[in-house]
Amino acid sequence: MVIPKQSVAGAEAGRWYMMSVQGGAAHRVGYCASACDGHETREDALEHYLRFQLDRESDLWLDRRSAALACEICGRTTTLRARLGRNQKLFVLCATHQSTASLEELFRRRTAVVLTQDA
Ligand SMILES: [Zn+2]
Ligand SMILES: [Zn+2]
Repeated sequence: MVIPKQSVAGAEAGRWYMMSVQGGAAHRVGYCASACDGHETREDALEHYLRFQLDRESDLWLDRRSAALACEICGRTTTLRARLGRNQKLFVLCATHQSTASLEELFRRRTAVVLTQDA
């Protein structure tokens, strides 16, 4: 599970980072894993991770063999798919909405759920 998490020890204690949490272990992921001083808020950490996923881990494509499903933005049926992040559920996006702006919008919806669960 990848979530925003506060660093508990050391000079960065209290700063937020995106972390992959598995068993009791957590490590920083995305841009937070390299040159990042941590963030004031969990929202900022999520935003940093969004930039990483858009830059490195986003894909938009047409899958002719898959079923026509409703676009997650407008509801029009389409066989176009998009992915943001590795091992993530695919998004359904029509030709009009197949853009990084839509991916940002869907990422925010996904993270809104994370933030409320965690609050
Ligand atoms: Zn960061
Ligand atoms: Zn659409």
